[in-house]
Amino acid sequence: MHISVIGCGYLGAVHATCMAELGHDVVGIDVDAEKVDLLNNGKAPFHEPGFDEILERQVTGGRLRFSTDYADVRGAQVHFITVGTPQSEEGYAADMTYVDAAVTDLIPHLVAHPDGPTVVTGKSTVPVGTAARLAAQLAGSPAHLVWNPEFLREGFAVQDTLTPDRIIYGLPADPDAAEAAGAVLDAVYAPMLAAGIPRLTADYATAELVKVAANSFLATKISFINAMAELCDATGADVTLLAEAIGHDDRIGPKFLRAGVGFGGGCLPKDIRAFMARAGELGVDQALTFLREVDTINTRRRTAAVELAQRILGGSLGGKRVAVLGAAFKPDSDDMRNSPALDIANAIAGQGARVIITDPAAGPKLAKERPDMEVAADAFAAAKDADLVLLLTEWRQFRDLDPTELREVVASPLIIDGRNVLDPVAWRAAGWTYHGVGRP
Ligand code: NAD
Repeated sequence: MHISVIGCGYLGAVHATCMAELGHDVVGIDVDAEKVDLLNNGKAPFHEPGFDEILERQVTGGRLRFSTDYADVRGAQVHFITVGTPQSEEGYAADMTYVDAAVTDLIPHLVAHPDGPTVVTGKSTVPVGTAARLAAQLAGSPAHLVWNPEFLREGFAVQDTLTPDRIIYGLPADPDAAEAAGAVLDAVYAPMLAAGIPRLTADYATAELVKVAANSFLATKISFINAMAELCDATGADVTLLAEAIGHDDRIGPKFLRAGVGFGGGCLPKDIRAFMARAGELGVDQALTFLREVDTINTRRRTAAVELAQRILGGSLGGKRVAVLGAAFKPDSDDMRNSPALDIANAIAGQGARVIITDPAAGPKLAKERPDMEVAADAFAAAKDADLVLLLTEWRQFRDLDPTELREVVASPLIIDGRNVLDPVAWRAAGWTYHGVGRP
């Protein structure tokens, strides 16, 4: 099938490439000419495990190309909308200007397709009600609209795109349009559906809500265990044992129960805020007041890490040398949007410390974007002569550090394990003063 993907960021570039991997002929459109050039040369504009190989293979193989020109979508039967929906500058609501611009620019190029209906498929995370609004805008065009939210995790983007836990279609109210548009998407995803991936169909609003409900639940789970960590800190209990014990209950489950410096990135924080803003517009803000607390607990973890650093360095960070391990919001990604690690590093530097930061993937990007920051090549270079080391992104390279070897290079063996991924017994045995989150 001929497919276009509008917006080639973390989601769109991976989606376009995976659609080519499924055997489709794909054009990716982005307004960023530099990104388009990189992608056309088979080079990923971001770090994502396993992505580079299939991108290069599909571009070289000729099934995948990228363009800044919307006219190049001509001939495609399915158009995926994957542009960003960041938090707006004025408040919590999502900034919909990119989605609106993409749809407006796409409409003149929508043509009837000989093989069945043309389908515009929204994948971006949007406020509930967006699909209905866009469907009205598309009413005079030859296309149907489907809302097909995306659940991929950065770091596992290829795997999650090709083998998601589920696929959901938000379909038009008209049964004929719904059936025809759903059949087109079934053809797009045919190999995945044949492999048994569950596919659910719903109305637009439910499909839109599934995405933000899932992210709200995940954010709540993280803030829940972080709240428990505060109780553990106050009582000398151990949140890692607590999480393990409650996680054995399969109604709770062990995942997303690691206490630490909290969630970040380009999705969870802005998604729960946009959800609260939308609930307010709908007159049901009380339904989501708990998310305000989820957000507050999450932000408090960042402040708490800075306060802990201050406390264990004798009350002041001024003039201290602090090594920060991690800049990306999670391991196996170079995405630093709303990153707890970067936020904490900034706050510590703001209090007069000399911060040396390192990140296996985000390091080069950080050095380019933030010339004011000292970026080191690895943990040993960052920790050289440090008064304090903070582990803030749980990269394998940091989890596997040898405490005895690292001790040799620091000025004083103090470590804050902001992700609870190190073995306190081993680190203490190597002479370190170890501080975890909610761990005695
Ligand atoms: P991103 O910022 O990495 O990518 C957005 C891309 O859209 C950029 O390359 C930008 O240049 C391009 N763009 C902006 N306006 C455009 C226009 N008018 N026409 C064409 N291209 C345009 O964002 P992302 O992380 O890929 O997220 C995209 C959407 O997917 C968001 O709604 C996000 O919430 C959702 N999502 C993201 C993830 C993820 O892990 N990143 C997962 C699920 C859902």
